[in-house]
Amino acid sequence: MTERKPEGYIDGTPLHPESLMMGYGYKPEWSEGAIKCPIFQTSTFVFKTAEEGKAFFELAYGLREPKPGEQVGLIYSRINNPDLEILEDRLCLWDEAEDGAVFESGMAAIATAVLAYVRPGDMIFHNEPLYGGTDHLFRSVLREFGIHAVPFPAGAPNEQVEAILADCPLRDRLAMIYIETPANPTNALVDIEFCSQLAKRYAPNGREVIVAVDNTFLGPLWQHPLKHGADLVLYSATKYIGGHSDVIAGACLGSRAKLAPVKALRTFLGTMAGPWTGWLLMRSLETLKLRMTAQMKNARYVADFLADHPKVQRVYYLGHLTEGHPQFALYRKQCLAPGGMISFEIVGGEAEAFRFLNALKLIKLAVSLGSTESLAEHPATMTHADMPRETQQAFGITDALIRLSVGVEHPEDLVLDLKQALERV
Ligand SMILES: *Cc1c(COP(=O)(O)O)cnc(C)c1O
Repeated sequence: MTERKPEGYIDGTPLHPESLMMGYGYKPEWSEGAIKCPIFQTSTFVFKTAEEGKAFFELAYGLREPKPGEQVGLIYSRINNPDLEILEDRLCLWDEAEDGAVFESGMAAIATAVLAYVRPGDMIFHNEPLYGGTDHLFRSVLREFGIHAVPFPAGAPNEQVEAILADCPLRDRLAMIYIETPANPTNALVDIEFCSQLAKRYAPNGREVIVAVDNTFLGPLWQHPLKHGADLVLYSATKYIGGHSDVIAGACLGSRAKLAPVKALRTFLGTMAGPWTGWLLMRSLETLKLRMTAQMKNARYVADFLADHPKVQRVYYLGHLTEGHPQFALYRKQCLAPGGMISFEIVGGEAEAFRFLNALKLIKLAVSLGSTESLAEHPATMTHADMPRETQQAFGITDALIRLSVGVEHPEDLVLDLKQALERV
């Protein structure tokens, strides 16, 4: 396990992350005894002496190795800030990561992490479908910088994934395997451990291939990619971590060595989060376990209701995978719980799906996910509208598909709302 600060233990026993979210990494004596970490709304920090300023910069710019126990002091809020550093310490606890970096958005985290490791001419091997923003970053933005993206289908058997890589003419420029699991919106799983084996097996001469996992859908509670061989874990903290649909933020976690280039680039691209965002996320983390547990339980109740309804054709929900399903063993290996995301096909097409969405009363019609309130959307014309129709069809994104992010409302009220909206279809 990653080394923690002393307050992470009682008599040598490590405490659970949820017990540490209220105070870990913060000392009330730093702020007149305030029990909560204040918002350090400041751009710069005063050095005690010129010698101290010199020493801080030597470490920040890597001009010398730190002495035992020496840390980079506070310099300037683009480099470091107490609200970010304490938040990063707390985020690390869930994934048992050595180091973390928070960003002003999930896309800022993803773009900074990818640019830290990928160079012109290189290839990123990634599953499809990807989050729309990431897909556009890879296919349109990075392409203009001479970076290639080669997709494989999420949910495909491992042999098929390996065959695509083995046959790829760009495989000697493989720099990163980028995974989103479960994939959005059908919850298809990608085998993280297998991808980390591929990264070693297909590493071009003398080069380390980075495995990056977007863990937004199940993390940080129900899936821990670092334990399965991933190098970097990425989050849109806008979703479950923030959890209240009121902040945009992102994070990247991993070993200290793997985070070093990401943090350095964050300093020079200026993609770090501001102190107010950091403070909001610390507040959110205190209830993360409560929220995600309630959402997970509600989702099961809702998914069971949908599966039995005559106007529902098909339900995509991790909690309904059974022994015979090809992804069942992978689910048991990689995921700790099914999470709060459900997709389902309504009987009919776009017209029926729209009638259903327009009839919802409690559940809000909006994209995004992971918040306290339940949200519903139509992937084919909303989150995945950018995808060619054939690709949509190949991934089961039909006109009848609806995606639900289940919140913390009373489960019977959610079912009441779904039931009346289905009746109006
Ligand atoms: C929302 C999301 C992102 C992008 O995050 P932002 O915070 O909106 O920039 C990336 N990946 C996944 C899976 C997402 O759901």
